[in-house]
Amino acid sequence: MILPKIAQWPLNHVPPARSGLAEKWSQAPDRLAGVRPDPLMQFQRLVDAADPRLTHYEVLDPRPAVESEWPGWVHPVVREGFVSQGVVRPWGHQTRAADLAWNRTHVVVSTGTASGKSVAYQLPSLSRILQARGARGQRGATALYVAPTKALAHDQAQALGALGTGVRVATHDGDSTAEEREWTREHAEYVLTNPDMLHHSLLPRHQRWSRFFAALEFVVIDECHHYRGVFGAHVAAIMRRLRRICAAYGATPTFILASATIAEPEITASRLTGLPVVAESVDNSPRGRVGVGLWEPPLSAYGGEHGAPVRRSSGAEVADLLTDLVIDGVRTLAFVRSRHGAELVSLQTKRLLHEVSPELIERVAAYRGGYLPEERRALEEALRSGRLIGLAATNALELGIDISGLDAVIVGGFPGTRAALWQQFGRAGRNHTDALALFVARDDPLDTYLVHHPEALVGAPVEAVVFDPDNPYVVGPHLCAAAAEIPLTQADLPLFGPDAGAIVGDLVDSGLLRRRPTGWFWTDRSRASDLADLRSTGGAPVRLVEAETGRMLGTVDASSAHSTVHQGAIYLHQAETYLVEELDLDDDVAVVRRTEADYTTSARELVDIAIITEREHRMWGHVRLSFGVVQVTHQVVGYLTKDRSGKVLGEHPLDLPERSLQTAAVWWTVPDLLIADFPHDLPGSAHAAEHAGIGLLPLVATCDRWDIGGVSTQHHPDTGMLSVFVYDGHRGGAGFAERGFVEAEAWWRATRSAIDECECETGCPSCVQSPKCGNGNSPIDKAGAVALLDIVLHHAPTGASGA
Ligand SMILES: [Zn+2]
Ligand SMILES: [Zn+2]
Repeated sequence: MILPKIAQWPLNHVPPARSGLAEKWSQAPDRLAGVRPDPLMQFQRLVDAADPRLTHYEVLDPRPAVESEWPGWVHPVVREGFVSQGVVRPWGHQTRAADLAWNRTHVVVSTGTASGKSVAYQLPSLSRILQARGARGQRGATALYVAPTKALAHDQAQALGALGTGVRVATHDGDSTAEEREWTREHAEYVLTNPDMLHHSLLPRHQRWSRFFAALEFVVIDECHHYRGVFGAHVAAIMRRLRRICAAYGATPTFILASATIAEPEITASRLTGLPVVAESVDNSPRGRVGVGLWEPPLSAYGGEHGAPVRRSSGAEVADLLTDLVIDGVRTLAFVRSRHGAELVSLQTKRLLHEVSPELIERVAAYRGGYLPEERRALEEALRSGRLIGLAATNALELGIDISGLDAVIVGGFPGTRAALWQQFGRAGRNHTDALALFVARDDPLDTYLVHHPEALVGAPVEAVVFDPDNPYVVGPHLCAAAAEIPLTQADLPLFGPDAGAIVGDLVDSGLLRRRPTGWFWTDRSRASDLADLRSTGGAPVRLVEAETGRMLGTVDASSAHSTVHQGAIYLHQAETYLVEELDLDDDVAVVRRTEADYTTSARELVDIAIITEREHRMWGHVRLSFGVVQVTHQVVGYLTKDRSGKVLGEHPLDLPERSLQTAAVWWTVPDLLIADFPHDLPGSAHAAEHAGIGLLPLVATCDRWDIGGVSTQHHPDTGMLSVFVYDGHRGGAGFAERGFVEAEAWWRATRSAIDECECETGCPSCVQSPKCGNGNSPIDKAGAVALLDIVLHHAPTGASGA
């Protein structure tokens, strides 16, 4: 059945956090146990009805399993452990990758969700550890596992324990006690940690870890597609420091990387480690048929900024779809972007069920992260057994919980990359069962483009992970940290990239490093590793402090603090909503308070850009496409309050200082002769093209639209022409603008299509309006943007790639 659309989304009611989850689900009746509905058959009704919201639907072929034999070198205890866990025979990709690693070839496994990538690195590392124990006169063998989150490392530790191999496993993170740390240093053979702990703890205190480093045989970098942008550059520098420390203790570990399906995994893995890496990306795990649907919410009756048409929220559509599937008994996981959104989807689904099948209300829940391990286990088990049929979750679930083998997955809002989308889709279906995967667009240019261009999502190669390991603003602090670990010598420099020599020179000039005959030394009393802040950039981060409790909630990059946590800002942190009471720039503190406010804020900002150097360019006829270094100057001068539809409620001035940022940019310039008789408003056309271009850049680079910024001007002082710039929002650049330069033709063609194909008249959030515009989306000329891009692209080569 298809339920009537709900006109308005409830905004002010959020159910209280639940407790006793584990108990509740274990008592729920298991009525559907053993019965698995066919999700494709259920969904076929919507396909047959030719619902205009379903912009695309296709069924992907099943993939057969390819099994293989256990390699001869696998330790019998390890093999027995896997067999006891149900892995009777490994799949082909698992043994191929494990064989390479065993023979000391660095390898990256890049296959889908639930394809058992962990077997590929656990086999060689556990076998080597057990084998080395038996050998006389050896110092033993150790393995290091690095995950982007603590939760993932803990799950791995648990999985390793379940194998019952007797290998001494320990997690090492911010929660470890002093006793645990000491035991880990003295005895652990398999240490699970994260990049932050490597950077702040293991590497700076390497002398205390000498036993572990000297015996290090394998380094596992799990979920390595997470290391993108500036964070990716930091992790790349940490891996180089790790290799240098290992070398000092006589160890040359083999690197095994695991990644979601990404393009060119060997290149990403090689940039991350600085080593040649072989890719294993043929997935031999079985999969049933997958029905992939793309869904566009209809336009609503409400008007947004400048009267723009606004689409029904993707959350409301997700709730409708989830309700339909739950009624059919299809076990469905819905991914929603925010915690608040997940709660609303769950609540709305329950309301819809109340009207038709009230007995199903208890079988739908929201997952917001932050649960205790036993609650997570109960939830996994309830979903697996079918006691729970529908779950609305934030992305927090993506890394923290082991749920796969569902009947259907709904993704509300593009998760940033095709790799992430397919990873979420991969939660549906296991072995030979059919599965349904639905993507529901949000009201923005990229999502709208994707639901109308299925070729860019289905069957298109996933994107490469983008980061720049040579960013001098990242390499510099890590050279200081490396010098503090062991003084740097000339021979170390090539490890840190082609510019390391020049960067060390600058560090000496600025007094951070001291040159002595034996090398470069860190002589300061402070900790060198504090210079590099892995998860942020551009000066001291601003701390978020909760007014009521004084508790520190987290930090915000200095680079974005003025526009996101100014006084009066509504700020979303880990999917909770806060109101900023005060931004204290002297102490780098923002005082915040939890709020149920149902409005949003957007900063008004003046932005100036100056070209420092043009590094590369291409000519498209008279249009010049450039990549280079720019100086961006920002000043936040006020903010707007808006209701959820985007309607402006009020404007408030702010008094904040100017800030500037040296970074990488891609830009194009159009000479006057090409736009002499241009029939549209030029500034509005360039501004609209800039907004849509920022929205579409994630199509070719693994960035978020919030990672980048733009400037458009009719006469730029440095070029003397109409110019549109898109720049990396991080000091020194993060690789996104560079990727935009390389893929400029595909990127700007997609941008033109996104604007042209949008069904609005004069611009809306699905095409040329931007939620982060510092000018309140004015001036904007939608038709002019298409005409301007036609001029820009007239002589651009037509790339074969659709994305
Ligand atoms: Zn539009
Ligand atoms: Zn703007």
